[in-house]
Amino acid sequence: MTKKKFQVVGDPVAHSLSPDIHQQFAAQFGDDLTYGRERVPLAHFTQCADAFRDSGGMGMNVTVPLKGAAYAYVDELEADASVAGAVNTILFRPDRGSKGFNTDGSGLVADLTHRWQVELTGRSVLILGAGGASRGVIVPLAAAGVREVTVANRTVSRARELCADLAGHLTGDVELRACGLEADLSAQGIEVVINATSTGLSDEVLQLPLSNESLAACFCYDMGYGRNAGFLNQVRDVAGRCADGLGMLVEQAADSYAIWLGHRPDTQPVYEKLRAQIGAHP
Ligand code: NDP
Repeated sequence: MTKKKFQVVGDPVAHSLSPDIHQQFAAQFGDDLTYGRERVPLAHFTQCADAFRDSGGMGMNVTVPLKGAAYAYVDELEADASVAGAVNTILFRPDRGSKGFNTDGSGLVADLTHRWQVELTGRSVLILGAGGASRGVIVPLAAAGVREVTVANRTVSRARELCADLAGHLTGDVELRACGLEADLSAQGIEVVINATSTGLSDEVLQLPLSNESLAACFCYDMGYGRNAGFLNQVRDVAGRCADGLGMLVEQAADSYAIWLGHRPDTQPVYEKLRAQIGAHP
């Protein structure tokens, strides 16, 4: 029987842990599949996605900077992807149609609540960054019961635009507001800080809108992991509790796997194996 074919695309993508994660998931079920990785420049996304589909590809993960192109590419969108304006998971159907999903938000919420036991209900959350990752997680965080979300971004107009786009999609009574990184939110009762900037990819120090004293009362989460968890390196000595984004990576991958193959893997053994490889979170 022909193996089911999957891959991750991005630019760069050589660092991606997704092939390893999905092979470990497949081993749990005895699923026979291949999972490759391909560096795809933005201008070539449509051509590459078409070629992968035509070669029998069943599903594709999409990472930076291609999530917007994937959103534009698919024939149909699931609700989270539609609101986020970004697709990280594509399902190619036998009838040749394609459907786009965004599992970043469900992955983050699962990691925060199950692995790190962070109670989100009623919390005040600060998100640093207003790019694709930030856009993908705000509505799922609201659905998980947070009380308010403040989006702080270097380019404040982008944070405002994001809040305006998402405001109509929030469930419950969530307050959503935007500000710049130079704001001082120290007296605002922030309880959870999520870094969704890409600064971890460089060695730049991120300007923070909170004092060290207020960070001490916060759970600080960095969507980056390994060498890219620069925010955690910055706050680990002052924050209340910290976690990196390795668990989010594994949880969002498990949600993709369930979309493609109909069963959700056990994420904990995969998480523990990767953790042993990349080292302890701060
Ligand atoms: P984008 O490129 O869409 O957005 C980048 C964001 O970072 C923007 O808000 C940008 O601000 C900000 N930024 C970049 N450089 C600086 C700087 N020097 N100072 C302050 N802010 C800065 O990236 P994504 O949203 O797609 O991804 C963000 C991060 O999240 C990446 O590191 C990615 O790897 C990680 N991620 C992790 C996942 C996981 O599973 N763990 C899943 C998804 C993402 P501005 O608007 O001003 O340019």
